Amino acid sequence: MLDRIPDPSPADQPGRPPTTWDSALAAIPAAGNRRAISMPAHLKFFYGPMDCGKSTLALQIDHNHARQGRQGLLLTRYDRSGGPTVTTRVGLSRDAIEVTDELDLRQLVFQHWALGRRVDYVIVDEAGFLNPEHVDQLADLVDDYHVDVYCFGLSTDFRSQLLPGAKRLIELADEICAVQVEVLCWCGRPGQQNARVVNGKVARTGDTVVVADTAHTNDVRYQVLCRLHFRTGRLGEPSLGQQLELD
Ligand SMILES: [Zn+2]
Repeated sequence: MLDRIPDPSPADQPGRPPTTWDSALAAIPAAGNRRAISMPAHLKFFYGPMDCGKSTLALQIDHNHARQGRQGLLLTRYDRSGGPTVTTRVGLSRDAIEVTDELDLRQLVFQHWALGRRVDYVIVDEAGFLNPEHVDQLADLVDDYHVDVYCFGLSTDFRSQLLPGAKRLIELADEICAVQVEVLCWCGRPGQQNARVVNGKVARTGDTVVVADTAHTNDVRYQVLCRLHFRTGRLGEPSLGQQLELD
């Protein structure tokens, strides 16, 4: 279990002598309307294959909350753009904070509060790639600090195995929702698997994340396949020549 980090309310600032007002001040939330009224917050995980619109939904939820006057943080990990940005396949993009291995997500929120900024909610894109520790930190923010957390990401990697962040989210989240924009395999069945295609063949082994490397000469791409075609490794209709070979 992770150690609880004390709430950095003004009364807890190091070096400040205690006063008789401390106990009364402790009841005043540091920032954020949601924290003033003790309402339960939620940890939600939205998952789906590539191309199903997860990042678009993340930005839509951010927009909806902002419109209601709430303030939040937008985080990402290994965004497809390669930078600290949430980019979507329909052309929208927003600046975001990149989650590194070392980043403690509780401390990140506390730092914003210490500067007098509100953080009512946190949105994490590409959350499947989070470390399990990051997800535990998010759960602390929900339970101990009433911050709403919305995570979006793949559930499985190119080998069809649960990603570490997705696994921990499935274990801890209050709600787990499949993003309901269907992505189809080339055959027309629902696409469920995120295949990594290396030099024209479905890869079965390799690192979870392929980091861009100019010295890397392999042709790597991703393709959503149904379970049957993921397992057989067939990437499309066979050409006439291949059909004659098969016959
Ligand atoms: Zn298929």
